[in-house]
Amino acid sequence: MKQGPPHECPVGDCQLQVAHHLLMCASHWRMVPFSLRRAVDRTWNLGRGYATPEHREACRNAVDHVNWAQGNTDAVNPFADPAPSSEAAP
Ligand SMILES: [Zn+2]
Repeated sequence: MKQGPPHECPVGDCQLQVAHHLLMCASHWRMVPFSLRRAVDRTWNLGRGYATPEHREACRNAVDHVNWAQGNTDAVNPFADPAPSSEAAP
């Protein structure tokens, strides 16, 4: 499998560097409910699901849950869909 660079944990203001094939740091991942973890793993599909809408949604749900559980309701979720634009392409 192709290795990418590590990235920052997407939760709140967590700045831990996370291996490319993992969504978030271990301590935050432990806060994700089992059903959401399964959805992330399933849609990731050993890397084949990278950047698919299904995987993005699963990641968004997991990050939203941890932000919510920590009270980071203002946190920016990098997996959130961009704001709808009036000039959206057809
Ligand atoms: Zn983290």
